Amino acid sequence: MLGSKVKIWKQDPTVEPIGIRTAYIHTPVENGPKDAEMEIKGMPVTLPNADNDFLFDPGENPSEFDSVHTFTVVRQVLTMYQRALRRNEIADDFNWQWGAGTPIGVFPRAGMDANAFYSRSEKALRFFYFHPGDDESVPLVYTCRSFDITAHETGHAILDALRPGYWTSWHPQTGGLHESFGDLTAIFTMLAQLDQCEAIIAESKGDLHSKTFFPAVAEQFGQALGRTMGLRNADNDLKLSDVSNEVHEISQVFTGAVYDILADIFEVYQKPDEYDQAETLFRVGKHMTALVVLALLQGPERNATYQDIAQQMIQIEPVDEWKQFIENQFTKREVLGGPAGLVAEKAQSLDWDKCCGTLKHPDHVKDTDAAVKKALKKK
Ligand SMILES: [Zn+2]
Repeated sequence: MLGSKVKIWKQDPTVEPIGIRTAYIHTPVENGPKDAEMEIKGMPVTLPNADNDFLFDPGENPSEFDSVHTFTVVRQVLTMYQRALRRNEIADDFNWQWGAGTPIGVFPRAGMDANAFYSRSEKALRFFYFHPGDDESVPLVYTCRSFDITAHETGHAILDALRPGYWTSWHPQTGGLHESFGDLTAIFTMLAQLDQCEAIIAESKGDLHSKTFFPAVAEQFGQALGRTMGLRNADNDLKLSDVSNEVHEISQVFTGAVYDILADIFEVYQKPDEYDQAETLFRVGKHMTALVVLALLQGPERNATYQDIAQQMIQIEPVDEWKQFIENQFTKREVLGGPAGLVAEKAQSLDWDKCCGTLKHPDHVKDTDAAVKKALKKK
């Protein structure tokens, strides 16, 4: 059976220059939409046309469009990581944290709230909607319509499957890795789409440090909070000494380092006289995706620190010059190069206040609190 054509937002309804696009899902899609790994829930069942394509207009069929958009982004994220795991001969099959057989439930319209989360116990991704500023005269913002938010939450679900021990880790940087992996997932998934790469090159004119939609995470949500560069800006210069122990703040240090490494590699790898820059960006994206995933898989099963993962990345990276980029960027961020063992690492209660709904969900907080208690008792 052939796959399905779908229509989705490229970023979200506010990022106008790139709008809507048609995409192709090469794996079978059933009514719902659903497949063996994911299932849209809490919405009327969406049916394809006679060619098994799901082509809806966001104005005329907003509910069908939301279901198809959300399904497609979750599908694109999982397909990207499955390809990386297969290319590197890590795993042929991917199972969610709860094992084979049960697809993840995806709720595009889970209720009224300025929130979205992955829940392990509910085996679900839930996306909520809200009036910005609680002002009912302002139109609702649907978090499911954001490519970045949908990809970010799916990233949490995927990391929980690959590294389940992070869920009950007490180290704030391990929480930071979870949050950062969400944002990096949005970035990597964009780079896994050729037309997104073209749009990024055109908008940035090939300079990944220029201010475009690319490093801006969750534009519409950010706009609702009055921010111009999205909810978070991946192209930041934060060092460890610039941030508190709040997990969301810490996460930006890792995201920023990976973003800068990506930009450094792109800068030296591109040869616009010989290759289209969009093609080069696509390749660098695949390389960075695999590098981060392999480093996480080879690092500690729980309480992984940025230093652990940075060292793995240096070890895995085959190109000497690029190894140096990794070392330089993590040194600049105070992750590498500092006096080792100066700060005693001990279990502590963590501050998830500014994180997305996944890490501050009672589900997760309860599990980490128990891990902190257990770690403290051991001493
Ligand atoms: Zn998150």
